[in-house]
Amino acid sequence: MDHFQLRNGELHAEDVPLSRIAEDVGTPVYVYSRATLERHARVFREGLEPVVKASGREPLVAFAVKSNPNVAVLKVLGRQGFGADVVSGGELVRALTAGIPADKIVFSGVGKTRGELQLGLEKAIGQFNIESSEEGRELAELAADQGLEAQATLRINPDVDAKTHEKISTGRAENKFGIPLVRAREVFGDLARLPGLNLRGVAVHIGSQLLDLEPLETAFAKVGKLVKDLRADGHAITHVDLGGGLGVPYKASEKPPSPADYGAMVARATEGWDVHLTFEPGRVIAGNAGVLLTRVVRVKRGGNGPPFVIVDAAMNDLARPAMYGAWHDFDAVSPTRNRMVANIVGPICETGDTFATDREIEALQSGELAVFRTAGAYGATMASSYNSRGFVPEVLVDGEQFAVVADRIPADAIMDAERVPDFLLD
Ligand SMILES: *Cc1c(COP(=O)(O)O)cnc(C)c1O
Repeated sequence: MDHFQLRNGELHAEDVPLSRIAEDVGTPVYVYSRATLERHARVFREGLEPVVKASGREPLVAFAVKSNPNVAVLKVLGRQGFGADVVSGGELVRALTAGIPADKIVFSGVGKTRGELQLGLEKAIGQFNIESSEEGRELAELAADQGLEAQATLRINPDVDAKTHEKISTGRAENKFGIPLVRAREVFGDLARLPGLNLRGVAVHIGSQLLDLEPLETAFAKVGKLVKDLRADGHAITHVDLGGGLGVPYKASEKPPSPADYGAMVARATEGWDVHLTFEPGRVIAGNAGVLLTRVVRVKRGGNGPPFVIVDAAMNDLARPAMYGAWHDFDAVSPTRNRMVANIVGPICETGDTFATDREIEALQSGELAVFRTAGAYGATMASSYNSRGFVPEVLVDGEQFAVVADRIPADAIMDAERVPDFLLD
């Protein structure tokens, strides 16, 4: 459930009519709902209750910052007790800026630079998820040189097909992430010996937008077996990070597993593990807590097909349709009940700048407002300035109030960072 609902014939974000935000801030603009973020945080936590009961421990829920790194959004989730799963130094700084305690920060990612590892050590983050023996050795050396000890897990690649889009599948043998299961004991043994490193467990994350729990359960079973093997090798395994990946409904016909289904499965799969668990949900928390509000520039007659509804948002603002062929529901802000079939496109000079083809939608005319739903995750954060378009702003709604939480960065401000070198001046 989200807080983007029709009231008196007009779509609202909580108690704010979207037309007011469009007037104040302009379009396109991302609009997030605080109440929805909080609701999703609560539902996720409640889903984990069977895990808490079975393990007797409160897990760490570390929001996957890459799904929505806006500092205000992180602040909302931090206040709900969430930690942060970060994949770059930039995200680490954001999480700290939002007031998320360092010991609740987990650093994932296959290409952490030396500088990023150092930053994590300086800030004394809670956990590094190491993705290679090379990275583990580098981190251990850095830490030992400074008399520090990095808390770490080893990310394994369980070779499981997550049955999701290939670009967001991360747990197959051919993917770049983690240590292949067959080498995990050996690599763990080598790294566990190093001073500077407290290698205390394992981590897994097999992909995103999972609509089926079965691949996760298969991966967790492999993790369980590995934990046993590592303990048999004499290692103290106290932490397991189960990653994120839970899908969200992008259309009404999609029925992803609920956080309650997920929690019940996790409780089953982790029975008897006796470890501290970490979860890294992103999309399931932020996805339906945001929309991309856009205005129709004009409606152009089609060639052989339906008309083109040209909106002022484009693939540079919301990349998912162009990048993954993703579906986003598209709803008029003031629906009239008249319907039309249309191709919904942005102004960018690429045929890929298409949000939907042959889509039945509410009839729209030039100047009218509409939203792309489920745009709170992997939306604004993937924006670019392609076609010399500015960066799209972000707004957070809280009841009757709203605030711009990321300014629009206009095209000329981006151009200001460019220089014509002396050798081109005549
Ligand atoms: C992207 C990512 C997540 C979050 O995935 P969602 O599908 O948004 O829940 C969690 N952990 C890692 C390591 C990731 O790369």
